[in-house]
Amino acid sequence: VRPLIVALIVGLLGGCADPALRGGPNVVLITIDTLRADHCSLYGYGRPTTPFLEELARRATVFENAYAPSSWTAPSMASLFTSLPPRSHGVVAGFFRKGAVVEQDYLGEDFETLAEVLRRQGLQTFGVSTNAHLTARTGFAQGFDVLVERWWESAAVVNEEALGLRDALRAADRYFLWVHYFDPHDEYEAREPWFGTYARLAEEARAAAEPPDPAARARREALRLLQVSVEKYDSEINYVDAHLRALFAGLGLEANALVIVTSDHGEAFLEHGTLSHGQSLFEEEIRVPLLLKLPDQREPRRVASRVSLVDLYPTILEFVGTDAPPRIEGVSLLPAARAGHPPDRAIVTELDRDRRTEQTVTWRGWKLYRREAPEAATRLFDLESDPGERRDLATEHPERLRELEERWGAWKARWPPAAATRKVAPFSADEEERLRALGYL
Ligand SMILES: [Zn+2]
Repeated sequence: VRPLIVALIVGLLGGCADPALRGGPNVVLITIDTLRADHCSLYGYGRPTTPFLEELARRATVFENAYAPSSWTAPSMASLFTSLPPRSHGVVAGFFRKGAVVEQDYLGEDFETLAEVLRRQGLQTFGVSTNAHLTARTGFAQGFDVLVERWWESAAVVNEEALGLRDALRAADRYFLWVHYFDPHDEYEAREPWFGTYARLAEEARAAAEPPDPAARARREALRLLQVSVEKYDSEINYVDAHLRALFAGLGLEANALVIVTSDHGEAFLEHGTLSHGQSLFEEEIRVPLLLKLPDQREPRRVASRVSLVDLYPTILEFVGTDAPPRIEGVSLLPAARAGHPPDRAIVTELDRDRRTEQTVTWRGWKLYRREAPEAATRLFDLESDPGERRDLATEHPERLRELEERWGAWKARWPPAAATRKVAPFSADEEERLRALGYL
């Protein structure tokens, strides 16, 4: 993909003139595409993939069990921006062809998005999006004074664009800045020096434990291909972490801002027979990092209870001092960040795409995994004793199963499905030609 700037000036750059608010506090939201929590050293991963996030965490709150509402970009991010579950904002399906998104559910104009609320509160709103599922065309520019779109670009390009906003950010009384990094989404690049180091250490470990048995050697060779993918994926995490460090330094983001760093979903490496994401709702695809830093925070905090990206909307609204609309799914995480009072509720996730309809309900360590299509199935996992979701306990624990199904029923009654009112249309011949000329198709 060749470089391109699509800068969308959605509104005027006029803003709040309240002198009491001059100079912040600001709101900074960083979303890192496809970053599963357990591959971050912030969460105890063996490779040092996230040194910058670890430093930031010394004066921030880390949520140890944060969930994306779905396992791919569009529904998860629409949920983050509306605090509604995927079925209620209706952004559940979307496809891309030749590098461009077509037929995606459009995020409806009637939803009050996070950026819209913040702009109404007097913050100037800036975004940098690298994912073509998150664009003006798919409804995600709502509320942004400026949204820079650089489809599928790397962290270096993201930083160039975000650092280019420096003067505008400095001139703002208060601002909301959303930066969406595309790494470590596939195709994974071997980012140096990290990839070389991981590959060398893995090679040394293999050489030290060479099995004499040829069958075992063949099996290990097959496994090796997967391991190389993981080494690349991990090196991409380092790469984006290093760029985050540069972004924070370059823009002075920590000063006087609520800072949130998270991801839109995880990534599978054959734990349950699939690669990539948007394929299932197993933990590897929905557990994401979540770090939240208040402007005056000096101490680290860890919160173990389960939370969801839908909680960020009421969290940010509480931070800027405005009420959240009555009908949202999330709860504010500020009490947890300030005083360690964690929310305690069932976490629901959904996937409804490519003829696959699934949901999970997780409550106090138990996870109900329902599948409606292509064939109905109900499974029950005990995440405390079986975090890898290997043993289905549905028949062994009928009382647990019933309890979670009741929770599912109550949740479903509260959030009836609302289909998106329109689809993003395929590109016109004109648009296609323009995009091709720009290197997108
Ligand atoms: Zn994504």
